Amino acid sequence: MPNKNEVIDSHLQSRLDNYIAETSKFCAQPSVSARSEGTKECGQLVVEILKNHSLQVQSFQTPGNPVIVGRVKGRSSRTLLFYNHYDVQPPEPLELWTSPPFKPTVRNGALYARGAKDDKGELIARLAAMDAVRSANGGELPCSVTFIVEGEEEIGSPHIAQFVQENLSLLKCDGAIWEEGSVDSQDRPVLSLGRRGILAVELEAQTMKRDAHSGGASTLPNASWRLLWALASLKEPDERIRIPGFYDQALPPTKYDLELIAAQPSDEAQVRAEFGLKEFLRNATGEAYKRAVFEPTCNIQGFGSGYQGSGIKTVIPARATAKVDFRLVPNQDPKDIFEKLRHHLNQEGFSDVNGVGA
Ligand SMILES: [Zn+2]
Repeated sequence: MPNKNEVIDSHLQSRLDNYIAETSKFCAQPSVSARSEGTKECGQLVVEILKNHSLQVQSFQTPGNPVIVGRVKGRSSRTLLFYNHYDVQPPEPLELWTSPPFKPTVRNGALYARGAKDDKGELIARLAAMDAVRSANGGELPCSVTFIVEGEEEIGSPHIAQFVQENLSLLKCDGAIWEEGSVDSQDRPVLSLGRRGILAVELEAQTMKRDAHSGGASTLPNASWRLLWALASLKEPDERIRIPGFYDQALPPTKYDLELIAAQPSDEAQVRAEFGLKEFLRNATGEAYKRAVFEPTCNIQGFGSGYQGSGIKTVIPARATAKVDFRLVPNQDPKDIFEKLRHHLNQEGFSDVNGVGA
């Protein structure tokens, strides 16, 4: 009698061509949400696909593209929810495609098409996995499963929050799995149990009405310096963030978190090689390197000010901007952190530096 894993493997092997054909058909249907190209048709195709996998399917109109929900009852009282999306990014520039984006083509053992990755291939892979688990459990799933498949992820999901609020009982679940996963450098599937949150801020210093000649630099205020000093006040060279109260609510990892991290293989060598690094910040290595994922961060994404063309221009910039992001850990509230950032800048004498949170 084969064990369950063998049943799962043989189910997938024997139907692999069908799943690839299903993925191809799905990818051949354009669904570019940025310009509403084919999205309604693709939503209808999702309904058919979910029905083919024996889910009970409902399609919901929203002010944008339809949201499709598929459900199947399982043995236990628990429910696992999968989030996926059927829309794709615009495929341009077309000249960089070896085969057309909406004409799925197999090359070197891989299927090439817009959406084959992110997120149509992932949806079919999940349905295939569900079929296989079902076949290994006498036709029944160990728990109930809900799929929610939307068509506006690539444009920032403008209607999903309202949809979720209006359909809480339909979407009630004990665990939710995001749209995709990855495989590490040694071909092991990665199971992520969470992500840090984010606060993104644009900072701006405006010191004069217009740029001036640098001959005036002994008396005229330079916006680049102003913003650089403000930015320098945010973090110590040892990476400690200086905003008062920044760490107050931050939850440290639990004992179980640390056990999981300790059992996880490290990608340290690979990341070092990828970025050409001799060492990581604070010389983090081993467990310290792996545990760093539990810490909040302050990162400058970009800085813009003054003359950046070739050669020299003797100018004092009147305006400088920077984009900054903070990765936040559980219990840190982005609104609260934004207020603390504002307070810190004021306290440090930078009330003239404007900040807009996103
Ligand atoms: Zn996606």
